[in-house]
Amino acid sequence: MSTSTDILAAVHFASDKHRNQRRKNKKETPYINHPIAVAHLLATVAGVSDSPTLIAAVLHDTIEDTETTREELDSEFGVGVRQLVEEVTDDKTLEKHVRKQLQIEHAPELSYRAKLIKLADLTCNVTDVLDDPPPWPHERRVSYLKWTEQVIAGCRGTNEKLEQHYDRLVARGRLALHGD
Ligand code: ZN
Repeated sequence: MSTSTDILAAVHFASDKHRNQRRKNKKETPYINHPIAVAHLLATVAGVSDSPTLIAAVLHDTIEDTETTREELDSEFGVGVRQLVEEVTDDKTLEKHVRKQLQIEHAPELSYRAKLIKLADLTCNVTDVLDDPPPWPHERRVSYLKWTEQVIAGCRGTNEKLEQHYDRLVARGRLALHGD
């Protein structure tokens, strides 16, 4: 299979797995828009052309948020892609505040590819929280931004363009939210 066929296979697979899910914004955008945006940001702003990274970006929420199994990803996309998806998958048996703390602690230990995906994932989420937010109170948006800064701190030194893009976004977010 060619690279583009592999990436399209991932888009096809993820769109089916996420087909009944919506984002938390007011317009309830189809969930698949998010993983596609993450992969697109990697390909454009970050200049990533490595297909395992782009494929895992498209699939990054399938294990965490759908019925997708590790075995399915193994057989459809190979062990390497599955391991990458697992690196950015939270353990949903843990409470949310614990999962968020673990993301901060584990970020520096992620592989180079997983750091790229984490950087792009949080950048897309911050973009959404600023431009097309879920109905969160102001305080929750501010604390979300602060939490992403802590996770991103552990991913730095991975892709300068992407990190600069994130930094500009957070600077804009601070102004917009009047936080510090
Ligand atoms: Zn995500």
